[in-house]
Amino acid sequence: MRFWYLTLLASLISISAKAVEDLRVPGGVAVIPVESGAQPTFNGKPVLTIQENGQSLAVIGLGLSIVPGDYTLQSNSKKIPFKILPKKYLEQRIYLENKRHVTPNSLDLDRIKKESKKQRGALDAFNGKLDSIHMILPVEGPISGPFGKRRFFNDQPRRPHSGTDIAAPNGTPIKVAASGRVSLVGDFFFNGRLVVVDHGEGLKTMYNHMDQVDVKENQVVSQGELIGTVGSTGRSTGPHLHLGVVLNGVSVDPALFIPEIRWLIQ
Ligand SMILES: [Zn+2]
Repeated sequence: MRFWYLTLLASLISISAKAVEDLRVPGGVAVIPVESGAQPTFNGKPVLTIQENGQSLAVIGLGLSIVPGDYTLQSNSKKIPFKILPKKYLEQRIYLENKRHVTPNSLDLDRIKKESKKQRGALDAFNGKLDSIHMILPVEGPISGPFGKRRFFNDQPRRPHSGTDIAAPNGTPIKVAASGRVSLVGDFFFNGRLVVVDHGEGLKTMYNHMDQVDVKENQVVSQGELIGTVGSTGRSTGPHLHLGVVLNGVSVDPALFIPEIRWLIQ
């Protein structure tokens, strides 16, 4: 009932709300007006541009590891200064029975290295034109792990959480958040069965720990299409969807794109 209500509210609000929130912090997104037809770059890399109310906007992903301070967006011959403010993320402590998921052995490390190279390639790509930046919630359920938390596995510090975890029963169908092309399907040591969808211009969504994957690489998918089901594969303590949003090669907070996530966290 609550989720049905949220979905209705989301569709009503999306008529007037911005498609992406401007939050200039590590793990956030900077939305900066640029001249129409500009090809802006950030740190020498191309960035996404969208049109909103007749205005061209550069949408820049700010990685969790970016140092707060003064930055510049290069837009044609213009340099547009902007500031990134600090943000303190909370801690999350997770206890795992599978010790290899905390301290992988040397064979695991070889596998992890190969997989992260493949994943990096899919997430760094900048291909095609973005159709629409509007995203829907892929699975309804409580947020069991917000984005950005500083994580400790069995008390050992590991990388911060690069996505949003949504708890849902095993086998729950997963809808793709936006239209695009499946750029990676895998069964990885940490991320389990996963799908990466490339939406164009450096924007991707990632679906980890899946039980069943129902799409193939290079398949074109439309927003809302079912791509597989929720599972608990890889480094996971129970069935949930780990949803990642990657923009210009860095993981950003999915809540900035999907308002329901912000409401579910509050
Ligand atoms: Zn996660």
